[in-house]
Amino acid sequence: MIYCCKEHVELALDVVVDEYETAPVMMELTEEQKLSTSCEYCSEQAIYMVGN
Ligand SMILES: [Zn+2]
Repeated sequence: MIYCCKEHVELALDVVVDEYETAPVMMELTEEQKLSTSCEYCSEQAIYMVGN
């Protein structure tokens, strides 16, 4: 699972496709999760979780 902000969601989707070669699943985090999670690629608050 990759947690990412709005800016990096496309990058995260590409990474999942490259690594797992399956269609990625994107879920929006709950308000509580957003507050305690930061993006993997920058220091912004994460908005989405991308997995497969
Ligand atoms: Zn980011």
